[in-house]
Amino acid sequence: MDLDLTDEQELISETARRFADEYVIPRVRESDRAQRFDLELARKLGEMGYLGAPVAEQYGGRGLDHVTYGLIVEQIGRADSAARTVISVQTSLVCGSVERWGTEEQKQRWLPQLCSGEAFGCFGLTEPDSGSDAASMRTRAERIDGGWRINGQKMWISLGNVASVALVFAQTDPELAHRGLACFLVPTDTPGFSSQEIHGKLGLRSSDTASLAFDGLEVPDEALLGEVGQGFKIAMSALDLGRYSVAAGCVGICDGCVEASVAYATERKQFGVPIAGFQLVQAMIAEMIVKRDAARLLVLRAGMLKDKGVPSTTETSIAKLYATESAIECANTAIQVHGGAGYVDDHPVERYLRDARVTTLYEGTSQIQKLIIGRAATGIDAILPRSPGADG
Ligand SMILES: Cc1cc2nc3c(=O)[nH]c(=O)nc-3n(C[C@H](O)[C@H](O)[C@H](O)COP(=O)(O)OP(=O)(O)OC[C@H]3O[C@@H](n4cnc5c(N)ncnc54)[C@H](O)[C@@H]3O)c2cc1C
Repeated sequence: MDLDLTDEQELISETARRFADEYVIPRVRESDRAQRFDLELARKLGEMGYLGAPVAEQYGGRGLDHVTYGLIVEQIGRADSAARTVISVQTSLVCGSVERWGTEEQKQRWLPQLCSGEAFGCFGLTEPDSGSDAASMRTRAERIDGGWRINGQKMWISLGNVASVALVFAQTDPELAHRGLACFLVPTDTPGFSSQEIHGKLGLRSSDTASLAFDGLEVPDEALLGEVGQGFKIAMSALDLGRYSVAAGCVGICDGCVEASVAYATERKQFGVPIAGFQLVQAMIAEMIVKRDAARLLVLRAGMLKDKGVPSTTETSIAKLYATESAIECANTAIQVHGGAGYVDDHPVERYLRDARVTTLYEGTSQIQKLIIGRAATGIDAILPRSPGADG
């Protein structure tokens, strides 16, 4: 494994870091306090070419490799996880799915405006009664003349209130379970589509999160992404890219924790000396650095495998599991280094903890990642419950 970044990758990463320092960080605290989605920032991400960075240039993307995409996400994640969420959802879940599964017409219609930040997209998989068990969804798509009628609900949908297009996963035949799922590209101004903001989140307070409702919503055949029955595959391929993006963002959180802690510990004096001079404080900083570097290497490995075009589901789950759990641990440790000062938002570390907390829940919980890793190691799928006495 060649760990050297190319000059172009270094440059893109440095540019993203500068953008994060100069443009993103100065506005984060206010949006977080106001619990307000920063539309101007979201559009700016598009202008910078950070939405749809790996999408082919002919569709408005930058045609970058996954390693470079991960480096951008890391830098934005260090500054603001809500902004990083815009990139992850728009790029990995929405653009990634349209580019891989869409018809030429669907790609031409949606990708340029999504990559530029002119429009936003959301990914509607989770429902009130269907989370880790996505195949149990209740949203139904019924065949009508020339198209489909969709009824149902989605829950916890990032960008759901600001999106112009929603990827909606629906069941076409409950008897077929996951083989009956289909995915639709639904313009959000379609009659029967409504969204509602979800308030009161622990973190990601300036990220837009919605519940969606579909009430007799009708879409033409051309709205179908891929084929009927491919919905589950589309969702899993999107989540594979999404997990990579979340993991890269969490490396950014770990890095931010190290940076803030070193700055604070070398400045803050107790017992007449900077607290960085105490071995127990250095131990906390060292623990964060080890986690950050290990997470970064795991993300790099997953990105390199994706760029080679070889299967990377397990390596992506390993990176996601480790990076997300590490982000929470680093943020918690960074607050400890800051003492009482870490408990208020004058420093970024309390926000890091609140924002990191969701990353072990969404795009597959840590338990689901462990089961994916365990399945690859043992050949036994332990995600589905086994009835007592079942063999195998
Ligand atoms: C802020 C936020 C943004 C989100 N954005 C989106 C989005 O844009 N689009 C979208 O579709 N969804 C989104 N989600 C939903 C997210 O992906 C789900 O919350 C996640 O998949 C977990 O589902 P659940 O919450 O229903 O938990 P559940 O599936 O009910 O899980 C509850 C607990 O049971 C455990 N568990 C479940 N099944 C198993 C099993 N087989 N073995 C062991 N343990 C198990 C889980 O690990 C967890 O600890 C978002 C969620 C949040 C909070």
